[in-house]
Amino acid sequence: MSFYSIWGLTGGIYIKGIGVSSGIAIGRVFVDWKEQVEIEKEYVDDVEVELDRLNAAIEVAGQEIKDLYDDVSSRLGRDEVEMFATHGMMIEDSEFIGQIKGRIITENVNAEWAVRSVADKFIQVFEDMDDDYLKAKADDVKDVATRMCRLLLHIEGSDLSNLREKSIVVAKAFTASEIVQMNRDKVLGVVSQEGTLTSHAVIMARSWGVPAVIDVSNVLDVVETGDMIVVDGSEGVVILNPDEDTLHIYSEKQREFVDFSKKLSQMAGKSTESEDGYPIKLYANADTGRDVQGALKNGVSGIGLFRTERLYMDRDRLPTEGEQFGLYKKAVQEMGGKTVIFRTLDIGCDKIPGYLNVPDEDNPALGYRAIRLSLARADIFRIQLKALLRSSAFGKAKIMFPMISGIEELRLAKGVLEDVKNDLRKDGVPFNPEIEVGVMIEVPAAAVVSDLIAEEVDFMSIGTNDLIQYTLAVDRTNRNLSHLFSPFHPAVLRLVKMTIDNCRKAGVKVSLCGEMASDSLLIPVLMGMGLERFSMNVDSILKARWIISQLGKKNMEDTLSEIWGLTTAKDVRRFCEDRFGSLKKAF
Ligand code: PEP
Ligand code: MG
Repeated sequence: MSFYSIWGLTGGIYIKGIGVSSGIAIGRVFVDWKEQVEIEKEYVDDVEVELDRLNAAIEVAGQEIKDLYDDVSSRLGRDEVEMFATHGMMIEDSEFIGQIKGRIITENVNAEWAVRSVADKFIQVFEDMDDDYLKAKADDVKDVATRMCRLLLHIEGSDLSNLREKSIVVAKAFTASEIVQMNRDKVLGVVSQEGTLTSHAVIMARSWGVPAVIDVSNVLDVVETGDMIVVDGSEGVVILNPDEDTLHIYSEKQREFVDFSKKLSQMAGKSTESEDGYPIKLYANADTGRDVQGALKNGVSGIGLFRTERLYMDRDRLPTEGEQFGLYKKAVQEMGGKTVIFRTLDIGCDKIPGYLNVPDEDNPALGYRAIRLSLARADIFRIQLKALLRSSAFGKAKIMFPMISGIEELRLAKGVLEDVKNDLRKDGVPFNPEIEVGVMIEVPAAAVVSDLIAEEVDFMSIGTNDLIQYTLAVDRTNRNLSHLFSPFHPAVLRLVKMTIDNCRKAGVKVSLCGEMASDSLLIPVLMGMGLERFSMNVDSILKARWIISQLGKKNMEDTLSEIWGLTTAKDVRRFCEDRFGSLKKAF
């Protein structure tokens, strides 16, 4: 409640949050069932009744997990659903189920309490294990136990991966893997009580194009499954139990948004240029084949950021060289001669698969992450580089190293790459020996020495999500600090400009692939800085193309000189809102 307010208007309860994906959704709420389960201990007279209840819940849970496994494997591929196979085994595990039954019989307690208390014991055992793979099993126990408790308590609905009705999903927070599991056809909108703009879960949600609002204070205290709700992802507001007038207004807004989106769709496949005819290249950020297809549909100059880590997440082992090669080759071939910039593994921080032995750290964002992890685990890094190099024989693949902080790391990474090239040569495996190599500029140190880095790379891509985090010392996932996480901060703008200028002087290509690249208020500023390559989520491509077509490049250069006269992030934001707010309102 500290930054946002809840206020009752005649039209319903308006709750302010942060809009992270534009559009209007109107529909019934589905509260993530994790939030609904409250277990109380009760003593029972008839243990047989409890055992029958338990057996019934086990049967239904088993069926649900099986359905889920079938559904998700048909949509997402076998490897991504291994966790549901584990859940299936757990619900049949004689040790786990035996202990639950034993507790009901010996302690005369209700079934849900027995499930929860036995699960807690198992969870503790797994969490205390040294092996990270086994440690991660604690989450599987939690998931299965919560499913059983939901069934025992007859909580309406189903889980997020198996929604039956089209719904607006409300939860405390979503993890990246939960978003992966959701059935996109059933989700009208997404609302979370917590969350930050640049978390990976939000980036994934946005790439679907469903209206989404995050950081909606106390929303779980006021909504229930089945409530009518409006989600305005453009304004960052949700309206609970809207009255007829409000519904009418928002239905109208929804219609306008859909009409405008249709108009935008006519820009698919067109080239991108400013109002005064200056060409701009738009690239897509991708992490799946679906994104590649979307990028092709909208018409892009290539994939500017292919986040490869997804292949390493949501599974319990490393992907093989063959699995990686298959994915990379497919993307490169589908892009048919257009650039695909593969970013090497960016694991760590808020993306750590359980099976990697990444030690717990007090400061994970400043720790063992991205290129640091790759250099320390050359076994993993070399396999990825091999797969990437092999894919370069099939199209225009490029390699980009994340979180480079200076020349030393760059040289080390390039050294490993050369070594892997030699291995491939020896084995007679085809690859492009001239493959272009670049870096992400997302650590302030790298931006400051971007003139030196420019001497040793073919291209750079400015990752502002992390550049802002590290420049302003604001954790990008900390909701209490989200008001301080600002791309409008003059320090961020100066670092971006410095990098663009250094690249231009050295004749090195530069793009920007953070969320800032698709911000309607900042596209004009970046154009003024001379940025010619923007890389963004697929669903932002047409919007960006339209915005750029409304702006004169020369005017933007003049506007930028006015911005340099401003001293605070707030002032810059206000200035951009005054000048370019009308562009934002169009969405
Ligand atoms: C960034 O940091 O701006 C970026 C694009 O990378 P990610 O969001 O995957 O960290
Ligand atoms: Mg980053």
